[in-house]
Amino acid sequence: MASIFTKIIKGEIPSYKIAEDDKHYAFLDINPLQPGHTLVVPKRELNYIFDLGDEELADLTVFAKKIALAMKKVLPCKRIGMSVVGLEVPHVHIHLIPIHQVSDMNFGSGTAQVSKDEMKEIADQIKGAL
Ligand code: AMP
Repeated sequence: MASIFTKIIKGEIPSYKIAEDDKHYAFLDINPLQPGHTLVVPKRELNYIFDLGDEELADLTVFAKKIALAMKKVLPCKRIGMSVVGLEVPHVHIHLIPIHQVSDMNFGSGTAQVSKDEMKEIADQIKGAL
């Protein structure tokens, strides 16, 4: 069965899309740790990031870098943190999170309240900075 991220990539499930190319897709995390929390995924469905080939992993990271640089331009933060967990969704993804302090990346500390309108506005801002 297709992963939830494959369904998002195919447009079968809505997402706050930020960017895509032939191999990758970026969109806002629906339960953001911080406003602007973004997920970057390869279109090829694979569970575990370290099962990617070297070139695929490098390409994914370079794609994530472009998104992170755009995020840093428009989101109030010290930097963009990058993390990989993958315990919930078995489709490789990188979390990009705008942070001021290390605790902003604590996955156990609850999520930020961001309205649908704000999510759309944030996605548009990041897109505009690409
Ligand atoms: P993990 O697999 O532990 O790295 O976490 C999966 C992440 O995917 C979580 O941060 C979820 O909030 C996020 N997520 C799950 N479903 C969706 C969705 N439909 N749209 C956006 N983000 C999602």
